[in-house]
Amino acid sequence: MKNKAFTLSALTAAIVSGSLTFTFLSGCTGNTLSSGKAVTKEASSGQKLIVSPNDQRQYQAITLPNQLEVVLVSDPTAEKSSAALSVDVGWLNDPKSQQGLAHFLEHMLFMGTERYPDPDGFMKFMDQHGGSRNAFTNQLTNYMFEINHSHYEEALDRFSDFFKSPLLLPEYVDKERHAVHSEWSLNRNQDGWAQRKVAAKLLAEHPANQFWIGNLESLADKDNSKLHNELLAFYQKHYSANRMKLVLISSDPLPQMQLLAQRFFSDIENKNIESPRPTAQIDFKKFGPKRVHYVPNTESQLLRLEFTIDNNLSDFATKPNKFLAHLLSSEMPGTPAQQLKAMGLLDVLYVDYDPAWYGNYGHLQIVMALTEAGMQQRPAITAIMMQYLDLIRKKGVDQKYFQEIRTSLNNQFNFMEKTDGFSYAAKLSSAMQYYPLASIVSAPYQYDKFDKASIEALLAQLVPERLTVWHISQQEPAKQKLNYFEGRYAIADLSEQEMQSWQQPLIPLSLPELNRFQPESFALKHAKNNIPQKVLDEAGVEAWLAGSQHFTDQPRGQLLLQWHQPSAKRTAKEAILHGMWQLLFILNNQALWQEASAAGMQVQPEAEEYDLVLKLTGFTDKQPALVEHINTILSTPVTAPQFAQTMDLMQRSLRSFEQQVQIRQASEILKTTLMSGRFELDVLLAAAQTITVDELNTYIGQTLAQSQLRVLAQGNYDEADVKKIAAALKGQQKTSRSYQVSPSWQPEPGQRLSVVRSNPQADSTLFRTQFLPNADYAGKAAAKVLSGHLHQAFFNQLRTEEQLGYAVQAFEFPLNQHAGLGFAIQSPVLSAEQLQQRVDLFLQQYSAKLEQLSEQDFTKLQQSQLLELQRMPANLEEEFKTFSNDWLRNRLNFDSRQKLIAAVSALTLADMQHFYRQTVMSEHSATMQIILQGQAKEQALQLLPGFSAIDDLATFHQTF
Ligand SMILES: [Zn+2]
Repeated sequence: MKNKAFTLSALTAAIVSGSLTFTFLSGCTGNTLSSGKAVTKEASSGQKLIVSPNDQRQYQAITLPNQLEVVLVSDPTAEKSSAALSVDVGWLNDPKSQQGLAHFLEHMLFMGTERYPDPDGFMKFMDQHGGSRNAFTNQLTNYMFEINHSHYEEALDRFSDFFKSPLLLPEYVDKERHAVHSEWSLNRNQDGWAQRKVAAKLLAEHPANQFWIGNLESLADKDNSKLHNELLAFYQKHYSANRMKLVLISSDPLPQMQLLAQRFFSDIENKNIESPRPTAQIDFKKFGPKRVHYVPNTESQLLRLEFTIDNNLSDFATKPNKFLAHLLSSEMPGTPAQQLKAMGLLDVLYVDYDPAWYGNYGHLQIVMALTEAGMQQRPAITAIMMQYLDLIRKKGVDQKYFQEIRTSLNNQFNFMEKTDGFSYAAKLSSAMQYYPLASIVSAPYQYDKFDKASIEALLAQLVPERLTVWHISQQEPAKQKLNYFEGRYAIADLSEQEMQSWQQPLIPLSLPELNRFQPESFALKHAKNNIPQKVLDEAGVEAWLAGSQHFTDQPRGQLLLQWHQPSAKRTAKEAILHGMWQLLFILNNQALWQEASAAGMQVQPEAEEYDLVLKLTGFTDKQPALVEHINTILSTPVTAPQFAQTMDLMQRSLRSFEQQVQIRQASEILKTTLMSGRFELDVLLAAAQTITVDELNTYIGQTLAQSQLRVLAQGNYDEADVKKIAAALKGQQKTSRSYQVSPSWQPEPGQRLSVVRSNPQADSTLFRTQFLPNADYAGKAAAKVLSGHLHQAFFNQLRTEEQLGYAVQAFEFPLNQHAGLGFAIQSPVLSAEQLQQRVDLFLQQYSAKLEQLSEQDFTKLQQSQLLELQRMPANLEEEFKTFSNDWLRNRLNFDSRQKLIAAVSALTLADMQHFYRQTVMSEHSATMQIILQGQAKEQALQLLPGFSAIDDLATFHQTF
């Protein structure tokens, strides 16, 4: 299952992935006076957990007789119940003879137990009762699920059996090897993974220098190593109650949860196994300093200074990593990031750290996306960063930064919002492996004191001998190929001369100033109405406001700001202009976003299928001040150098589109097919060539002048706040226009359409959608309830039974008033043509299966969707989503969820069966499919009978 260990930051991922939508400013929230204090909650065994004063849940820590540590979380408002169990074993413990074994075992554990032998049993059970489950392997192995509370006990019974008597039958070994292989295949051209592999090579004999995912080659019978035997041995050797940590979350009272924990988990065997974490020491005299040249699959241009650091997780309460990352990544005036940007050398700089990346070692790295000019100055930029580190050593270890970071973390902790139980359980069960029990919730926020010594200890490791300088671009002199990953590399020693040159001062540098946006007031003023009401309707501007229904104790709010100009993206050229505008808005103002983020506010572009929509979230106190800045920078003219720099970045990221995970590309192409205002890659690239900076400035001015401003606010605002925000943004413009949702495909009965594209990757992908035109809420309700059953059948057949691919999904796929179903599969096994036939056959055969569905099973599916639809939102953001979706589609009664709930309640089994026949097997249905033909199989492709191909999407869009 998903291996979550290796992800790029969202912004970098976006920049290298070719996606024109950006997530930025994720991360910390903050401010000054703390109204509440962290609370320690007593647990019956005497263990206290430090939790937020805003956290109403009850916690209890217990240790079962078999030494299994358990944290129980009782949350009367939880509608689903969850559990997560982590095991202190992971990829660093793989035997050399079977690399990927920890991950493989994670897969095999789901394949039946003595009392529940059906390999699909757990998943079927989950699907029937509104559940979901996942697992991932990194330095740990973590298993988790959530389910409707009515079936929590049985779920715990099944789940706990994995750790008592898994069958691990030889007959499933081959199937799951293929699943693991497909998972690897999906990711093999992902640069983040390949670079990780190169970095590990530098660690020589350290166990991190292994292949962690596994594939058919690494997981196989060898002369002295039989896979199945090794699997059993690995389980016996590493799975023991004393190395496991369990978290249970439900609405039950604590005493009842304690009984559940005892009943189901106290008979997991305790083998008293020592922690298997690696202790191998790295000799840095031999290790560094190195330069790695890496040729990526994308067109990214990066300079990365990666320092290998000792695992300092035990310093979590004094936060040396966070302290230094704060200084290193700052874009306040005079800092390297600010100056390098001003010189046109840098697009993005961020600092990333993981002290347990390699188990007993980790890394802290400065990642810089460079411009063409920056690429010519890599030695100088490296020198500037090394000099900045010296400045920090001399003057930066200052208590004032500690105060600022602590304020920010305190505010974040004191007003902590809930996340869903599923993720929370997983997060806590991992944290239990790393932090003292008291701190498993608070560890990321806890900043007990200013500890000069721990910061200096870390600074002493940010030195050349622990440094790897990464030069990443298409132009690198790199010939070596990697085993198991695409991407070439070369490793060189850094010369004495080069390191000497770092001593020469190049530019004067300054340390950052303090933050201007820390909130000062946490006064609460949520509006009484919970459904948005129009509070402003003037020429050129409209605004709606609602208070939160569930989170009135939060001094936060969510704002959508929309500049509505429905013809802003009619042509490919306009789409590029629009994309450039957004990109410049983000990249040119990183210092502002960073400062806002540290003060607990986030800004990001949203909903790219519309015109310009920005989302502003977080503490409301300083939001009006931030909005004034946004107003200024949106209309600030772009300079010629800024234009050239960002245009280059945009073109490179567009050209890198085909290196994204293939199934994600298919989904993007499907959106491009269905929506106007979106264009294909080659068309966008051609349009990009023709644009000038003057055109961009004219475009921005005109688009702003012709826009109707719309504001939707939910949370801690009063009418005066909303009016103030709207007034700040409206400026001089007074264009009034009525709302127009951008045109999309209107499927017609009998249409059978395909978009076929050749793709440079090895795998092939099919993304098929089936629509019942104008089926509206009744149809959408049927699709929703059906999706629970259909997903399971599709997944079981094509992935579990036939092992055709790792990414295999079926889901509801509504399109405006049309109800629909979607089926997606990426396969290293079948050609595109075979995929098409296989999925089509499945759709035919599934009908018979659906006819046999019992009333009882139908009711379960229906109930679990109803529970999900009526669930209380976990936080403000989730609450806001219900309304913002309606608002963007101009459904101003804000009642689409209520209508869907009514339709799901009224649905019968016969309705649902009828819906499937109509949508998939009748002349009333319409089909659209995206086919990506990979390179591994033959290229000839014949469409299914009755299908025709769309060649040009722009022409197709004119039919909308
Ligand atoms: Zn996996």
